Parts: sequence; structure tokens; C-alpha cells
Amino acid sequence: DLAPVNLAGVPVEIREVVRALNALLGRLREANASQRHFLQDAAHQLRTPLASLQVQLELMGDGHADAAALARLRHSVARVTRLANQLLALARAESGDRLLADAPPVNLAELIDDMLEDWLRLADSRNIDFGVQREPATLIGDPTLLRELIANLVDNALKYTPAGGQVTLHCHSEEEAVLIEVADSGPGIPPTERERVFERFHRVAGTQPSGSGLGLPIAREIARSHGGTITIEDGPDGGSSVRVRLPLKRAAAETAG
Ligand code: ADP
Repeated sequence: DLAPVNLAGVPVEIREVVRALNALLGRLREANASQRHFLQDAAHQLRTPLASLQVQLELMGDGHADAAALARLRHSVARVTRLANQLLALARAESGDRLLADAPPVNLAELIDDMLEDWLRLADSRNIDFGVQREPATLIGDPTLLRELIANLVDNALKYTPAGGQVTLHCHSEEEAVLIEVADSGPGIPPTERERVFERFHRVAGTQPSGSGLGLPIAREIARSHGGTITIEDGPDGGSSVRVRLPLKRAAAETAG
């Protein structure tokens, strides 16, 4: 358990964050048995940045707040926030079937265009050549989840590909499905790991330490909630290629029925 924090002298917003997170940990402990394993993993992941938040807050409470301490604080808060958002996305994707039924059509090309500027900036800052090809591709689905799905794949490609490399995002419609492919020239994912990386919190040995191990499991859950599949193959430039196939038919049948 997290020890009580001395919050004297700490801004009120941060005090509220700590209280909310402690309440969340309490709720996780009370969850039902079938979810316990997942929640234990989640709580464990939350605990590391929270413990570091606590130490930093105590130092601030003692009057030792400098720019470096604030930067570390911000980093820890960002990690906790990202993880909380991923856990929410996972919960939302798991109830995706219900959401699909009355959803309006989503144009994937538009959805990609909305995120493009951020990716180009990120790619530029890492000296990665980022190419995108998107044809108009419309399907029935949840735009927030589809955005999360594509963003997780592009974020991984940009994160794991070293400077000087290439990342490409292709999106096009076939007769019965929309295909989304994110390929990179990074280290690739070994064939023996290509199923395991979809397990929650699994990370390939030797992977750089930032990341939660939830991006791909969330991507798969979202693809499934749209009746689709996600697979990993060799990329054209030696890295990995992650392919998502989302059927058009199923969505139409569901809307009708
Ligand atoms: P995270 O990236 O937060 O660790 P993910 O679930 O998105 O979690 O990915 C799981 C693991 O799969 C990563 O830790 C990494 O080892 C591996 N991986 C994912 N995408 C790539 C990629 N594009 N290139 C190489 N390895 C990858």
C-alpha cells in the first residue's frame, strides 16, 4: 500500500490527484475474482509512478521544489494519466459490441488526418521518415476507439524505430473490409513473440523501459469489438508490420439487426 503522504505545501490540484488515485487503488482491491489478475497487474503498473510521485511531493512539501523536481513530477503524472486512459480504453473496447449497434459511419481517412500533424511532428523530432497513404474508407464503428487503435500502432512504430528509419501508415478499403497497415524499419518483433505481445503487460525482453505493455492488447480488443483481426508480420524494411482488418459486412448486419 501507498504510505500516507505529507501534503502540506502541495498545490490543491495535486492533493486531489493523490486522493483520487488512492481511492482507485482501494476500488481495485475490492474488484471481483475473475478480474483480479488483470487488476493486480494494473495496480502494480500504477504503483511505480505513484510511488515516485509521492517521494517528489514530500520533497516539495519540505520546500525542495526546483525545476528538475517539477519536471520529474510532470513525467510521473503523465505516466499515470496515460495508464489510466489506457485502462479506460480497454474497458470501453470490451463493451464495444453494444456501442457498435447505433454508431454513425466513421471515415478512417479523416480520422487519420486529424492525428497526422502530431505524428509528423513526433517523427520529425526523431528524424524518422513518416509516410502515409489513406484512401477514403468508411465503416460503422466507434471513432474514439478506432483513433486509439491506429494511434497505438503508429506510436509504437515511432517509439521503437531508431533515428534515420522509416514508418509508413496505409489505409485502404477492399470489397469487404478496411485494411490498416503500420510498417516500420525498427528492430521488429520476433516470430515467437508475435502472439505474446497481445497479452496484457507483456513486453519483449530488452525493450526500452518506457511503455506499459497495454497498447497492443487494447488494439486487439478494439479490432475484435469491430469484428476484425490484428496480426504482426515481417515489415518490408526489416522491421515489423502490424495489419488490422476490419470487415464492412458485420457492421452493416449489426446495424440492421
Ligand atoms: P508498450 O509499447 O507500451 O510496451 P505494447 O502493448 O504497445 O506496449 O507493445 C508490447 C511490446 O511489443 C512492446 O513492449 C515491444 O516490446 C513490442 N513492440 C510493439 N510494437 C513494436 C514495434 N513497432 N517494433 C518493435 N517492437 C514492438
